Amino acid sequence: MKKAVNEVVAAVACAASLSCGGGRGPAGPTTTPLTSGWPAGTTISVRSGETLEPVPGAVVIVAGQRSQCDEQGRLRLDSGAATGALVDVVHPRFLDRQTFVLPDQTDLLLWPRSSPSGLDEAFTREIVYTATIDLEQGLLGQRALRRWPGATAQVRPRGALAATPELVALVEEAAGIVNTALGSAAFHVGTAPGAAVEFAIELRPEDPYCDSGDVYAFVRHNSGLAVITGGEVVVCEEIDYFRRPPASDDLRRYFLGMMVHELGHAFGLNHTTSPGDVMYRGGHWHRWASAGPRPSAREELVMRLMTQRRAGTRFPDDDRLTVGATARFSEVILN
Ligand SMILES: [Zn+2]
Repeated sequence: MKKAVNEVVAAVACAASLSCGGGRGPAGPTTTPLTSGWPAGTTISVRSGETLEPVPGAVVIVAGQRSQCDEQGRLRLDSGAATGALVDVVHPRFLDRQTFVLPDQTDLLLWPRSSPSGLDEAFTREIVYTATIDLEQGLLGQRALRRWPGATAQVRPRGALAATPELVALVEEAAGIVNTALGSAAFHVGTAPGAAVEFAIELRPEDPYCDSGDVYAFVRHNSGLAVITGGEVVVCEEIDYFRRPPASDDLRRYFLGMMVHELGHAFGLNHTTSPGDVMYRGGHWHRWASAGPRPSAREELVMRLMTQRRAGTRFPDDDRLTVGATARFSEVILN
């Protein structure tokens, strides 16, 4: 097995046509009649994305008009606002939300600045919005929130991995761990045709990325700028490595921890700097005790909060530029 893993490196290949790609995201302001926004009398509610409790006193600014939520976290608009009009929601306990008027977006969920789970602003920035990738391409640093176009993704074992029931079972266990953290059946392992989002998974030590130094595994996203449309998870070991007797608990933990981590990337997570997180960068997949790898409470929270946001949302919580963030490219996240 390879030794210490340092920084995650990644490569971005093939920046392709800006006009291609599809993807999620609301209809843009230019495609919806201006009369279909929020008519006068519309009730807006503001809630915590963590607890779903109302946020009394939140200030909501709609097209320059400032109002404040009542004790139920609600307010009624005196005047209407067109689709696409700018909306700001401000409350000291939450990240400033910058969005826009959409007819079906009257229930606004806010992202907490801090939480009993340990999530804070720095963690949010790191795991959702910071790429630790490809130094050559200069993409290190801030990035948009990335998501699948739907709620589920298929994981399809390939090659020798698919033919090894013990490893397939571990992939299924890893998918179950992520699903439990998320509170939904996000990942399923299978071979059904036509999955909207699919990640092939295989052992491919001969892949050139596996030779680029201290690489155990990588995820390739086929992606819009922020919409993850599928990809692959590649493990840089021969199948014999995992079959080598005795088949130790250590190897099992190693593979399971790696799978949970890589599926986290497939979901759209970046890296953290705390060994208590499954998205801790740099491998160390042996570190899990027999209880196995489990996303930390703050990782669980962050995944749920991500599903409340559009692909393309910018830090701290701005989804105004998500429309059209669909250019297609391919990206590789090592380890
Ligand atoms: Zn990683």
